[in-house]
Amino acid sequence: KHVVIGGGTGFIGTQIVNLLSHKGISYTCISRMPGPNRISWHDLECYGLPENTTAVINVAGQNILDPKQRWSEGFKQNVINSRVETTKSLAKAIICTKANAFVTISGVSYYKPNDKEYTEESKCEKYDFLSELCHEWEAAAQLPKDSNIRQTTIRSGVVLGKTGGMIKQIYLPFFFGLGGPIANGNQYMPWIHISDLVNLFLFSIENKTVHGILNGVAPQIITNKEFTKAFASVMQRPAFIPVPRIFLNSIFSKERAKIMLEGQKVIPKRVKELGFQYQYVDINCACAEVIGKNK
Ligand code: NDP
Repeated sequence: KHVVIGGGTGFIGTQIVNLLSHKGISYTCISRMPGPNRISWHDLECYGLPENTTAVINVAGQNILDPKQRWSEGFKQNVINSRVETTKSLAKAIICTKANAFVTISGVSYYKPNDKEYTEESKCEKYDFLSELCHEWEAAAQLPKDSNIRQTTIRSGVVLGKTGGMIKQIYLPFFFGLGGPIANGNQYMPWIHISDLVNLFLFSIENKTVHGILNGVAPQIITNKEFTKAFASVMQRPAFIPVPRIFLNSIFSKERAKIMLEGQKVIPKRVKELGFQYQYVDINCACAEVIGKNK
């Protein structure tokens, strides 16, 4: 077995690589920077995928929440290209190999925030920049109808892990007791522990019955307020100070602040039907693991 991972150097990618190594599965990352077990996107374009490739994963993407980056038109184009073009390049390359699985990531921003419950079968029209991005990203992963390769897209919620994503950004404010709910905190916060997300990637590669859309979220539905309470409690810090809507809208653009101010009620119906076993189904346990309290 040999797995190729676009964006294998990032927060999620590194954990996928660790799991593969642990299982004794060899891998190649595709990265903009040279290094061991790596090829570049240019190499992929010129020489295709390694001959022994059995599965391909794509988790590449310019960081959307980077506070140093203003959401200019140029940056937004980068956000799109780093996801859609990389996925397209891999979709094109994989059909020339003997690989049998292609697993890519997308986001729950595909679903419109409201009180509706969304399963993988729910169809949603594009409604803003991020939802349009998700539609394009997912379309880029489609393979020709006559291909025998199983194609899976994981629509991920907020990924909770020590080394990246949201936790990395909120750790210090919470540590200093400055954490708090975002606005009134009533927005849903679809979440998944990094270990479960990474296991879901491996499950999708290894399980011959898996294909199509999977909601990469924990089965427990929580709000931002409930997350804040769980996280502050394991950090043993107060979290009374709400982050006001007006503050977020002014430091980020309104478009970007929406990511934090709105949320969707997402159910992992197919993931459960396929028999995937979660390790973290409770937000308190997930937060405890993330900050190293239950080890
Ligand atoms: P990271 O920022 O940690 O890693 C992203 C990876 O993408 C990096 O390793 C980088 O590889 C590569 N990358 C960054 N910019 C570009 C670019 N302009 N062109 C090509 N490659 C690029 O992100 P995460 O691991 O947290 O997320 C991975 C993917 O999962 C992203 O697409 C993200 O949108 C999606 N996702 C993440 C969620 C989360 O909560 N973290 C939730 C839902 C979806 P290198 O520098 O080696 O080239």
